[in-house]
Amino acid sequence: MLDVQGYAALNARSPLEPFRFSRREVGRQDVLIHIHYCGICHSDVHQTRDEWGGSLFPMVPGHEIVGTVEKVGTSVKQFKAGQMVGVGCFVDSCRTCSACKKGLEQYCEGHIAFTYNSTERDGVTPTYGGYSTNVVVDQRYLVRIPKRMRPEEAAPLLCAGITTYSPLRHWRIGKKHRLAVVGLGGLGHMAVKIGHALGARVTVLSRSDKKRADAKRLGARDFHNTSTPETFAALAKQFDFILDTVSAPHDLNAYLDLLKTDGTMILVGAPEKPAALEAFPLILKRRRLAGSMIGGIKETQEMLDFCAKRKLGADIEVIPIQEVNKAYERVVRGDVRYRFVIDMSSLK
Ligand SMILES: [Zn+2]
Ligand SMILES: [Zn+2]
Repeated sequence: MLDVQGYAALNARSPLEPFRFSRREVGRQDVLIHIHYCGICHSDVHQTRDEWGGSLFPMVPGHEIVGTVEKVGTSVKQFKAGQMVGVGCFVDSCRTCSACKKGLEQYCEGHIAFTYNSTERDGVTPTYGGYSTNVVVDQRYLVRIPKRMRPEEAAPLLCAGITTYSPLRHWRIGKKHRLAVVGLGGLGHMAVKIGHALGARVTVLSRSDKKRADAKRLGARDFHNTSTPETFAALAKQFDFILDTVSAPHDLNAYLDLLKTDGTMILVGAPEKPAALEAFPLILKRRRLAGSMIGGIKETQEMLDFCAKRKLGADIEVIPIQEVNKAYERVVRGDVRYRFVIDMSSLK
């Protein structure tokens, strides 16, 4: 076994602290990665605090991992030592179900091994995430980080980037469309950048005016403050698509009214409580309410290549791991523009 240093939550109430643990030896299909950067996703906070229930402790969070290949197994052909690679939200899946066969591993109907707070395919061995020095991952679940990308700006793309890219591509959102992005946080800021790069006319809907200038800088044409009810009246029936990135409870019905006939609202944020849904906003204009979760490995690679070509990365604040608990408090307050990334060289 490989000895690894990381940071873990030992239970739902304790702050993260230094933690030593073991990872498997490099198997034939495996790649050993020396981790340079790991993004902090809001779901790291939810899971270390067991806010979704069922958390497994000790928990080493982190699923926005970028690092260098240190060693490869004898059957690994696609990756070699020294190469910059990424690991996203899952590290394995059943590989045989219809979803896996279509490259939609995120919707695996068998057992999906999430990068942390989950188990390997054996259903027993816990998975530990990227707040650590090293990780061992099967080559099928790795992506290449394009050379011209800054690795620290690439890390958040592995969750926030793919979570917004995948639905934008699935619904073929582009030049002919008006797209509203609800919430300008880690997910929202990537949705604006990618939506704009795909040619859509992007509007940001935010709870205050504080991010108005940022929204424009990131590529939004319009910005509206949703704390005033007039906003909803003024924007009624304006949008082809709404990408809703908010993970706090909010009134979906009010947003559905902003869609044109046949418009689609896509949820990518996950509030803890169920939302009250009225039938009329859907019925009256044949509108649709949909959801989407991250993306498959092939699509994640496609997203990275797309972002590299368009020179898109996440807007980040790099921190040493010793500041992770303070950063969590700021994530909860929405006080980060727009993603914390941990510099793993701080972990000794
Ligand atoms: Zn995430
Ligand atoms: Zn599967």
